[in-house]
Amino acid sequence: MARFIFITGGVVSSLGKGLASAALGALLQARGFTVRLRKLDPYLNVDPGTMSPFEHGEVFVTDDGAETDLDLGHYERFTGVAARATDSVSSGRIYSNVLEKERRGDYLGKTIQVIPHVTNEIKDFIRIGEDETDFMLCEIGGTVGDIEGLPFFEAIRQFAQEKPRGDCIFMHLTLLPFIKASGELKTKPTQHSVKELRSIGLAPDILVCRSEGPIPEKEREKLALFCNVRPDAVIAAQDLSSIYDAPLAYHREGLDQAVLDAFRISPAPRPDLSVWEDVSDRIHNPEGEVRVAIVGKYTQLEDAYKSIAEALTHGGIANRVKVRPEWIDAEIFEREDPAPYLEGFHAILVPGGFGERGTEGKIRAAEFARTRQVPYLGICLGMQMAVIEAARNLADLPTAGSEEFDHEAGAKRFEPVVYHLKEWVKGNAKVTRKKTDDKGGTMRLGAYDAVLKEGSRVAEVYGNTAIEERHRHRYEVDIKYREALEGQGLVFSGMSPDGRLPEIVEVKDHPWFIGVQFHPELKSKPFAPHPLFRDFVRAAKEVSRLV
Ligand code: GLN
Repeated sequence: MARFIFITGGVVSSLGKGLASAALGALLQARGFTVRLRKLDPYLNVDPGTMSPFEHGEVFVTDDGAETDLDLGHYERFTGVAARATDSVSSGRIYSNVLEKERRGDYLGKTIQVIPHVTNEIKDFIRIGEDETDFMLCEIGGTVGDIEGLPFFEAIRQFAQEKPRGDCIFMHLTLLPFIKASGELKTKPTQHSVKELRSIGLAPDILVCRSEGPIPEKEREKLALFCNVRPDAVIAAQDLSSIYDAPLAYHREGLDQAVLDAFRISPAPRPDLSVWEDVSDRIHNPEGEVRVAIVGKYTQLEDAYKSIAEALTHGGIANRVKVRPEWIDAEIFEREDPAPYLEGFHAILVPGGFGERGTEGKIRAAEFARTRQVPYLGICLGMQMAVIEAARNLADLPTAGSEEFDHEAGAKRFEPVVYHLKEWVKGNAKVTRKKTDDKGGTMRLGAYDAVLKEGSRVAEVYGNTAIEERHRHRYEVDIKYREALEGQGLVFSGMSPDGRLPEIVEVKDHPWFIGVQFHPELKSKPFAPHPLFRDFVRAAKEVSRLV
């Protein structure tokens, strides 16, 4: 049966609660325990799939096809444990389940209330798979005091109360602001935040305090006294130059020891941190630097492409180089020649995206990469744009385009080289979708197999011809155009097992040009860089040596 660690935040948002949870997960693993991490989000969207990346950052997709919060990406990158649909829940999902049950008559005529019906639904969610792992880490989104968060805080209070004593602990993340004028770290906001927590019946066992510098002994004691935690359970979380230093930094501060102490696990198994030491060493001692242009749409908010940025870092770790990504708004290339912008980059990446805006610019970026022999990685929409570019400029189909843009514009303007897929095979079952289905969750989502062509570049990169990757899209490249495109050197080197859906294309006479219909970035880890990112960065490193 799992032990539970509930992670809450106070004072301000964006303190790195997800990162602290993920790093703690990695540290518990380093001591030989199994872990699973979960995110409970108080917002009312049923899932983050329909939220704009500008609002909420990237949507992370699990193998079993759930569109989840980007924190699940952190969890996976630090622990290597593949997230599941049941690792992420929102108020919207909880309420929708409760209301569905109410309509079905499951509550037998009772008045439906936040306590107990909503809180029971939350507790049921927390319990899923509790017998499968040593530790379950549940992060509550938002900060204590938020109106939306209350049912979640109440649910975890009840949950801990119902479990045997000592099976649940609470970890609270806060901020210690530094006041320049007095040269002091201030503990008052943390005291207030803990007071707020205690007023709803939750007493933290561990305080993780974000601060610019170390916590002086005096402040530590004050925090311990006023917040009712042990002094060695006050953990400093200082700013780090790389997030992948977090496991080692938290270990030095004694976080994992404090957690094991709170559970009275003694003697504590010794940790093996060699994996993280190696990752840190590679990050801090690179042998060079490569510049990668990311030509996308959501370039103002880096979190919109979180997993891509991380996967590039992982590619750098594998090749012992620092990868410097630079975000370029694709729309610029609709007005201006891409050459002056893209010259000087060692590689170009066109990421996924939705909608027509910026796509002509992405097509021009793909053309630049193809004709100038610059390494190119096209992901999802980035692959579709590379195919359209080749269709227009090599296969004599000047009106080639994607049905997605015609649907959006309500006009038929393009030859649909990329078309709306309405029926496909998942495992042994057929999946059908209509154009009129709800927007949420109607895509080809989650893990699908692909078969790689013997002797292709991707087969060499993967070292395998059978792969499984995660998808999130509605549109597909039409195999109807395969012959015309392959005749011009754009090879369909990865296909769905039934041979109907192109999964990977590559340009034959090019140093490195690969487009993939799936999202390889979602499966990359610092200690196990994804083969495509590893090799893409290797190709970029080669270019950097030539110039
Ligand atoms: N908009 C495209 C589609 O739905 C690509 C999606 C993506 O890049 N994730 O097929």
